[in-house]
Amino acid sequence: MRKIWIITLFPNFFDSLINFGITGSALRGERGADVEIKTVQLRNYTSRDYKGVDDSPYGGGAGMVMRADILKEALLKGVVDPGGYGEKFREKLHIIFPSPRGITWNNSYCKKFAQRLSVKDSKDIVFICGRYEGIDERFLNLYVDEQISIGDYILTGGEIPTMAIIDSSLRFLDGVLGNKESSDHESFQTHLLEHPQFTRPKVFDGIEVPDVLLSGHHQNIEKYNKSESQRITKIHRPDLLLKKEDE
Ligand code: SAM
Repeated sequence: MRKIWIITLFPNFFDSLINFGITGSALRGERGADVEIKTVQLRNYTSRDYKGVDDSPYGGGAGMVMRADILKEALLKGVVDPGGYGEKFREKLHIIFPSPRGITWNNSYCKKFAQRLSVKDSKDIVFICGRYEGIDERFLNLYVDEQISIGDYILTGGEIPTMAIIDSSLRFLDGVLGNKESSDHESFQTHLLEHPQFTRPKVFDGIEVPDVLLSGHHQNIEKYNKSESQRITKIHRPDLLLKKEDE
């Protein structure tokens, strides 16, 4: 069973990932994926009376910085000890810090990450969720293996990036999506966005579903959907088509 540990000030953030929808049932083991999430409350590893985990930055400046000593304590006592990783834990854990500095998350990065989750002898994963202005650089240099950004904007903490990374990767694990086709045909799997979708009623506010989709002619439907994918991509993400030309 692949374990994903999450060191965070807000373990409850992850209730939605763990309890709802496809990720919830995947993490309960109902979809064949062998992945378990364990949250670690960072505040349990500070000896400070008021449970603080941060301090003001040396050299001055706005905001607070998460302390390296408390993060290390949480890693050792909250992950390494209960997980039985022992002294050589760096060989058994892959430690990720979601950060604006990281490489930007996208579909191919996500697929590679999902492979790591499914390969039997690969490492368990630890996410460190930053808050405030971030974490002490020394913890980063000594203990973090990878930094991942979810885009060029700033969130208030690493919890949402961690959930985005886990949610999008779980979808690539065998069995997690009921029908394997649904991940194969989705946007970004190729250089195209997914074609438009329709369901009942046949006529909505006077607009009919395209005839070809009602024809039952699979080849024609496939051809139509492909050309619709191209049309939609040209309108919404022409950069994807240009990228394809560059390849
Ligand atoms: N002071 C930091 C900077 O300017 O780069 C931003 C700190 S942010 C308020 C707090 C934490 O949220 C970060 O340490 C990181 O863990 C997380 N975070 C914010 N934006 C992110 C992004 N785009 N991708 C991944 N993590 C992010």
